[in-house]
Amino acid sequence: MYNHAPADYCCPFCLLAQNTPSSWTTLDDIVLKDEQVLAFVSPTSWPNNPGHVVVVIPIQHFENIYDLPVEMGGVLHAATRTVALAFKAAPVQPAQLLERSMSAVRTVEKRG
Ligand SMILES: [Zn+2]
Repeated sequence: MYNHAPADYCCPFCLLAQNTPSSWTTLDDIVLKDEQVLAFVSPTSWPNNPGHVVVVIPIQHFENIYDLPVEMGGVLHAATRTVALAFKAAPVQPAQLLERSMSAVRTVEKRG
């Protein structure tokens, strides 16, 4: 419907979902991953940003929201909530937030 990616487009999010780091992201940026969802922090905004940007995406490639199945909305929301709760529980110290947040997410995952 609204697709415009070139046929040879190499999606950087899909690369990360396949455990392939890129010039933008490394595997250490991943804070949550299961069979349907991947969440990672944006490393390019991290060093000078006291906050954080977390990207939560489906493992399966969808070019845009028009292609995203309705059922994935709930899955993405649940993963986003898990990450948000873990980040909220982590102390907000910019230099340590990433490491602690990742640890907190893993702790929440183990409980889940
Ligand atoms: Zn993709």
